[in-house]
Amino acid sequence: MPRPRRAPHVHKFGGASLADSAAVQRAVEIIQSHRPEPTVVVVSAMAGVTDALVAVARQARGGDKGALGSLIEQLRTRHEEAATALLPELPTRASMISRIALAFQELEAVAWELRGLPEIPARILDQVVSRGEQLSALLVAASLEVSGTRAEYVDALDVIVTDDTFGQASPDFAATDRNAAAAIMPILARKAVPVIPGFFGKSPSGNLATLGRGGSDLTATLLARALEAGRVSLWKDVPGLLTADPRVVPDARVIPKLHTREAAELAYYGAKVLHPRALIPLTGRNIPIYVRPFENPESPGTEVSEQVPAGRFPVKALTAAGGQALITVTGNGMLGVPGIAARTFAALHSRQISVSLISQASSEHSICFSVPEAFAVQARDSLLEEFREEISHREIDGVEVSPGMATVAVVGLGMHGTPGVAAGVFSALAAGDLNVVAIAQGSSELNISVVVAAADAPEAQRRIHAAFRLSRIAGGSVIRPEQMEIVLLGFGQIGRALSTLLSRVERPALSMRVAAVIDRSGFVFDPDGISPRRLAALAAEKGKGRRLADLPKGQPATTLEAVSHIAGYALTRPVLVDLTADDTADVLEQALTHGMDLVLANKRPLADRQEVSNALWQTARARGRRILHEATVGAGLPIIDTYHKLVESGDRVYRIEGLLSGTLGYVLSQVSDGIPFSKAVRTAMAKGYTEPDPRDDLSGMDVARKALILARLLGYPGELSQSGVESLVPDWGRTLSRESFLDRLPELDSYWKSRVDAASVENSVLRYVASVTADEVAVGVQAVSVTSALASIKGSDNQLVFITERYNTNPLVITGPGAGAEVTAAGVLNDILRLAGG
Ligand code: ADP
Ligand code: ASP
Ligand code: MG
Repeated sequence: MPRPRRAPHVHKFGGASLADSAAVQRAVEIIQSHRPEPTVVVVSAMAGVTDALVAVARQARGGDKGALGSLIEQLRTRHEEAATALLPELPTRASMISRIALAFQELEAVAWELRGLPEIPARILDQVVSRGEQLSALLVAASLEVSGTRAEYVDALDVIVTDDTFGQASPDFAATDRNAAAAIMPILARKAVPVIPGFFGKSPSGNLATLGRGGSDLTATLLARALEAGRVSLWKDVPGLLTADPRVVPDARVIPKLHTREAAELAYYGAKVLHPRALIPLTGRNIPIYVRPFENPESPGTEVSEQVPAGRFPVKALTAAGGQALITVTGNGMLGVPGIAARTFAALHSRQISVSLISQASSEHSICFSVPEAFAVQARDSLLEEFREEISHREIDGVEVSPGMATVAVVGLGMHGTPGVAAGVFSALAAGDLNVVAIAQGSSELNISVVVAAADAPEAQRRIHAAFRLSRIAGGSVIRPEQMEIVLLGFGQIGRALSTLLSRVERPALSMRVAAVIDRSGFVFDPDGISPRRLAALAAEKGKGRRLADLPKGQPATTLEAVSHIAGYALTRPVLVDLTADDTADVLEQALTHGMDLVLANKRPLADRQEVSNALWQTARARGRRILHEATVGAGLPIIDTYHKLVESGDRVYRIEGLLSGTLGYVLSQVSDGIPFSKAVRTAMAKGYTEPDPRDDLSGMDVARKALILARLLGYPGELSQSGVESLVPDWGRTLSRESFLDRLPELDSYWKSRVDAASVENSVLRYVASVTADEVAVGVQAVSVTSALASIKGSDNQLVFITERYNTNPLVITGPGAGAEVTAAGVLNDILRLAGG
């Protein structure tokens, strides 16, 4: 047979790549973009079709003709719609539609044979499910033709030769090699594109047999082998082979290059991305495979080949297979008796039960291994039979089966000769309190597998992934370019303002999303991110006074429960943003421990007892996390930032003083302008400058907390209770209800008028001033000269003055709006962006 001069390129399009007519059209474009190189195309069924066909078989066995008819009708319509969209010309379209109709008629007839049978024979199921691939191959071939690329449909039955294990057939390489050359070479020689359905072939008995779920990957590599292809591209709905299943480990990364043996190991241990035996045909063939993103055909995806060196990561990827049972054979009689292990596995082998993990305790008292749950009973029975003698002599105690297990496999060529990998796996799991039921190191030394309870498997994978820092795998691009996930603690005015700001941030390199919002009632969490629209809807509901726990998808929980629930999801670069005014130190500790960075607008935790606030900084340091808190002082003004910049540049800050309360600033500047105190307070309330109860501001505590936070930056060792704080609330006003306090406010007017008058005699005005050094915190009313900078500050503005070694005679002054939800949210956003920046 003449071979084409250039080695062909085998493309396989997976189900997701053929979801609908638009996807098929895109596949056609990808194929055309590679022409004129010799091209072979293998296709899966359209997305979801194989599952639907399995359902057809079940429905048919159940004997409900109506339900069967409607399932088939849905499938027929779906294919017909794709054909109509893809084939504009009437004759081609009509002939395709009648082929589709015929295929489903036949299908109905075949399926109907199953009615009332005790179980579905694998041979018939294979005939039913292969329909999906046949139709999509016809559709792709016809679409190529109408788009101007010569294409020919090839019947897989003429090419792929299998054994008779229906549902799970193995290919016959030699026979397939011969057939492929005979059927496909001539098409390539005609410069046309052969399009062949994946997933099945013909068995020696002449029946159609499928290669097992995901089998079209295997069809592609079989053809690549037979045709001596130059490369294989597997077009999938992922950016490549990832360090872990992205549905389980959100920060999984693309692995740029993987050795064939590593990829084979991953596939064998259940990574759903490749058929477990897909790589076998290419062993020793030097034909690279590329797992490529259908959505982004320019991207190289992952190269799998035998040329890839081990690299510097001992562990490259991990995967888990659920639905496993652990079988343990124990007994004293096993000690030193040769051949027990061999007999165990021979017994299983004779029943064609494949064992995926074996571990023998060093005491040789037990052998344990895992098998798919479905085979557990069979496996146990065969072992009880095999060891009947030994059991009756009590040399073997018995055979124990534990279902509900999963095997997590950690894979990497580089672990050969790298000590400590197993220890790393163990300590990662131990840190999460995850119990390891069994462990085995593959004899190839390129994997370590652990058996854990199936329910623990996702958390186990996330922990191992993090422990080996797989999200940093060399050169691997991230799936979601750069991601930062935000947990909003407190969803009041500031939280709502922040969510609006967040939705407007334009930073294509970094996607930020809100994963959760928490209030006192509970939380709303979506590991895929709460969309801006939904966030706005939640904000609107909250604005109307409703609680998160009562809103759709809201869950009641304490704040601690909410954070620990969310932390269980291994978010990517999570940030907890505390916008409450509560004592949240314990929650923040927990968030840090779970790897979250913190952004605070809440002053209380950092103004809490020294012991408490120090502990937060220490935990952050120990865990490598950051705490940013610009909005705790002066809302959005860059005060904390300025302090750090001064210090980083070698300056020494001696004293910080100024006006730190928008509310008190407003009230006192009004009073200094001759307005009665009571009226000034009421206007401040009306303008939204105060807390709901204005006494919270008038007491000076809010300013005292800000001052304490600043003082602690300078090294002040004291507590809030040691700060000198002048309260504008007289003793009699503390115990009243809010209403009575407001009613009696005018009683204060004359006192304030006399203070203002006294000050003006001295050419001064009243301001509420905070002053902090490393030794002292004082906040209270001061008469400041009308010519001073502080006197010029009006309304709710803040002003901060830094007196430093460098700025000594001419202090550094920062002035601007210091209160309000908008500006506070802006300060918080700034911190979030800083974290995002590095
Ligand atoms: P195809 O469309 O070719 O049949 P599959 O759906 O069989 O592709 O395989 C792709 C899916 O495999 C992805 O959607 C992903 O969820 C899953 N997957 C599991 N483990 C991995 C991994 N390590 N890398 C990439 N994808 C993975
Ligand atoms: N369509 C089959 C399946 O869903 C084969 C494949 O996709 O490779 O398993
Ligand atoms: Mg697949």
